[in-house]
Amino acid sequence: MQLRKSAALAAIAVIALTATACGGKEGSAGDKPAGTKPGASEAPALPTYTVATGVDLDSPAFKEAKSRGKLIIGAKADQPFLGFEDQSTKVRSGFDIEIAKMIAADLGFSDKQIEWKTVDSGIRETAISKGQVDYFVGTYTINDKRKQLVGFAGPYYKAGADLLVRYDESAITGTDSLKGKKVCSIVGSTPLQEIKKPEYGASVVELAKYSDCVQQLLTNQVDAVTTDDSILKGYAAQNPKKLKVIGKPFTEEPYGVGLNKDDKVLRDAINDSLEKHIQDGTYKKIYDATLGLSGSEYTAPPAIERY
Ligand code: GLU
Repeated sequence: MQLRKSAALAAIAVIALTATACGGKEGSAGDKPAGTKPGASEAPALPTYTVATGVDLDSPAFKEAKSRGKLIIGAKADQPFLGFEDQSTKVRSGFDIEIAKMIAADLGFSDKQIEWKTVDSGIRETAISKGQVDYFVGTYTINDKRKQLVGFAGPYYKAGADLLVRYDESAITGTDSLKGKKVCSIVGSTPLQEIKKPEYGASVVELAKYSDCVQQLLTNQVDAVTTDDSILKGYAAQNPKKLKVIGKPFTEEPYGVGLNKDDKVLRDAINDSLEKHIQDGTYKKIYDATLGLSGSEYTAPPAIERY
């Protein structure tokens, strides 16, 4: 734990130095981890993805991607260590970005054959069901309500809703101390639905982007931000003198890859990819070089659910 923390802090220092948040050079095979200076040895390296050849799937999304010569992948852009886009270089980095690239390689698409589309939480079901993306990887909780609109491969990670507060906050110690407090969360997200329940007694502020909620926390406009601990730890790691995560998860958020509801062939192919790389260690390497750097302890991913 202590070792992991110091490795994480070292990596964060490097990240701060390079001023790329968790950005970095486009993650081509064998690159140093996102945000790492050439020659730096503190952070683990990202794995290499072998692009499969001769893949042919009887999937509408796959066939369309093949004929246009690229995959369109939906992702988040404002979640450090998960799905992040450096606004000056436009380079994307993080755990979800790498999982998306790993799957793309198994489908026969290289980095250069990926077109990224930023899709915020509130418009995910629309973007997926309207075919604006071939698949979506972005802290997307699998649940029955969403399953009526979209399909899910996975789960490939399990998070839980938690609270991000200012570093000097002492009044908020968990969900039982939110009465009358202003809590920010994101339109279309599951933690927003949870925190709106009257039992918490919070005054809820709803915004579209996580970065906006964090900004409001830093400028004292809200008292806390709630969403998945994985996301909050990334923000706390970027600003450890000003922000901290309470560390008492109060929901379960299993992450899935979102795709067209009826595309079972693509869903099976994505599940195959996840399963294969969880087993061969690629998944763990990705984790260590991305999300692991924000101080999230590694836990084995949940079993893939086939349906
Ligand atoms: N995992 C939650 C959800 O899918 C919160 C994170 C997010 O908004 O992406 O709603």
